[in-house]
Amino acid sequence: MRIYKFGGASIKDAESVKNVTSILQQEGTENCLLVISAMGKMTNAFEKIVHAYCYEREGLKAAQDFVANFHTEIIKDLFGEASEVQEKIDILFGKLSGFLAQNTSKDYDYLYDQIVCFGELASTTIVSNYFAKEGVENVWNDVRQLIITDSSYRDAKVDWQKTQETILQNIDQQKLNIVQGFLGGDTKGNTTTLGREGSDYTAGIFAYCLDANAVTIWKDVQGVLNADPRVFKDTQLLEQISYEETIEMAFYGASVIHPKTIQPLQSKDIPLYVRSFKDLKLSGTKVTRGVAIQPLLPCFIVKKDQILVSISALDFSFMVEDNISHIFKLLHQYLLKVNLIQNSAISFSVCVDNKFNQFETFYEELKSSYKVDVVKGVDLYTVRHFTEEALERINKTGQPLLTQINKETAQVVVNK
Ligand code: ADP
Ligand code: ASP
Ligand code: MG
Repeated sequence: MRIYKFGGASIKDAESVKNVTSILQQEGTENCLLVISAMGKMTNAFEKIVHAYCYEREGLKAAQDFVANFHTEIIKDLFGEASEVQEKIDILFGKLSGFLAQNTSKDYDYLYDQIVCFGELASTTIVSNYFAKEGVENVWNDVRQLIITDSSYRDAKVDWQKTQETILQNIDQQKLNIVQGFLGGDTKGNTTTLGREGSDYTAGIFAYCLDANAVTIWKDVQGVLNADPRVFKDTQLLEQISYEETIEMAFYGASVIHPKTIQPLQSKDIPLYVRSFKDLKLSGTKVTRGVAIQPLLPCFIVKKDQILVSISALDFSFMVEDNISHIFKLLHQYLLKVNLIQNSAISFSVCVDNKFNQFETFYEELKSSYKVDVVKGVDLYTVRHFTEEALERINKTGQPLLTQINKETAQVVVNK
């Protein structure tokens, strides 16, 4: 069994859907399961519906119309005017409107999952019907009945045993199957989601449950590169990397593969290929167990807009276990994600992400017990397999405030 994952970029318009069809025709359709995300940036657009529904009802209609029109344009290109597929999508979005009208819950995370799921339900309906039109036989499955999760909405945990049983019972492995990425279902019959960018993880879940031969993630880049091409010039392809390397890169913030994807694959030694949907001749990146990175290049990862906090005791005493544990309690309480820690006798520094905008309250509380220095808007660079030259390149991007070097990895906080 082969598992293919097509993300939003690979089905962002009619042309791209046609391209996916031709990939399947060339690569073969038997024993294949396709995991498909919402089209283009549709999940962001569905998030706007959630926001409008919860906080700004006057913007709700425009947010819903935007999503409906986006799909209608693609459907017109693929199937012509007034198609059956348009009717199917109208019914689907009608269900969403019905849900919004009847709902009484105020639980944001629950509502989020019941709303954003329509992105994947719509994309898979369109792709499945287009395949059929082009003679590519396929089976559309509702993944919410296959991936069974708990009810932690927006970050659902998979019940592996139930999921594997259900998948093995319901997926006909001879056929070409289509499932929605990112979604699951809980035992109450509600939709759940696996976290943003979670479709890669869906591919990992199916691969694990079906003992797949391989997973291929199709991207708009050649494969895994040694840096994010949107941020760095002169990026190069990594032809071969290990599961561990991929996990490390994802941990430090590389956004090319969802970090949860790797573990299910690693536990069954299922290789992962990252290939370009724009050029089938390229072999892309192969991720397997224990291999050395090839070619051996410094890999750059950047986290922008971080805050560097340096903390010392008011009386210049040492920073030891009790004050460090107090600081961590506060970091946890104010949901500050710590991306780097450095400790010396009299000072303790952390580089944090202010994702939930609670930094100011944290700072006010911290200030009452410690001397606190703050530098906002810094960039945190991580360089795996660093060289002197690679570090120099980073140091030139601004004023380096802090450097931490481990065996394979260097991290530098830079003030631009
Ligand atoms: P998808 O539509 O499949 O979810 P994404 O847009 O989420 O695709 O991810 C693909 C993008 O990830 C690429 O276009 C690239 O800009 C970015 N990216 C970030 N880091 C890397 C990296 N190390 N290697 C390749 N691409 C990367
Ligand atoms: N559509 C979802 C998102 O954009 C899941 C995914 O694409 O992986 O987060
Ligand atoms: Mg993505």
